[in-house]
Amino acid sequence: MKLFLSVDMEGISGIVDTSYINPSSGVNYQRGRQFMTDDANAVIEAALESGVTEIVVADSHNTMNNILWEKLHPKARLLAGSPRDSSMMQGIDESFDAAMFIGYHTRQGIPGVLSHTMSGVVHNMYINGQVVGEFGFNAAIAGMHNVPVVMVSGDNLIAVEAQELIPGIQTAIVKEAVSRTAAICLSREEATAELKRKTANALRNRNNIQPFRTAVPVELAMEFSHAGQAEMAAIVPGTRYETATNTVYYNAANPQDMYKTMRAMLNLASGAEFF
Ligand SMILES: [Zn+2]
Repeated sequence: MKLFLSVDMEGISGIVDTSYINPSSGVNYQRGRQFMTDDANAVIEAALESGVTEIVVADSHNTMNNILWEKLHPKARLLAGSPRDSSMMQGIDESFDAAMFIGYHTRQGIPGVLSHTMSGVVHNMYINGQVVGEFGFNAAIAGMHNVPVVMVSGDNLIAVEAQELIPGIQTAIVKEAVSRTAAICLSREEATAELKRKTANALRNRNNIQPFRTAVPVELAMEFSHAGQAEMAAIVPGTRYETATNTVYYNAANPQDMYKTMRAMLNLASGAEFF
């Protein structure tokens, strides 16, 4: 059995604010990297005990070189570094039996520890009219390859967001959000136990979880904070810019093209001048 792990940082055990996820912030970032590696290792250990034979870990935060390679479980392979065509989902294909999203966070515009979607420039993003965050975009990529996302870890609120999109998904809740930069965290030991327990449950029940499939062509809608960002995003050929809502639309042939277009639009939008 093959397992794909996409590991972000904001939803990792013990992480509550940007001092843990920003490389320039010193000692807490170094601790955050250790916490991230520990969470991944807990999942890997439980997965191996549950019959998984091959594990790919995609480091999926910022420049994607956060996990401590030398401390990662020896049975896992680490995909590190960027850029990557498929970003947080690079390497997934039909050969995987299941995917898990570790250390994930809620989408932009709602509560949750370090909630955002990809970058700060976008307000809401929609796939076929449904508002989604990073969880939804990445689940759509897994779904395109017929791979179910069977487990998510993070705070109590990403658990809700994930269950809305994927009924029955296992949720390893390692902290309870108090504000966007505060949380009540389980102890290291309890968080590890929760991650292991939910990993085992998820793999046992994996056949009951449907891949998150999107109708094609996929309509991507990106609602920006201001017109300057939307104008930049609308440079992408084939887009339609709705000025009244600062929303740029694009019809993609499949989720992969949608994802790449979304990233191109975000990069362009972040170059907008004046805020
Ligand atoms: Zn992140």
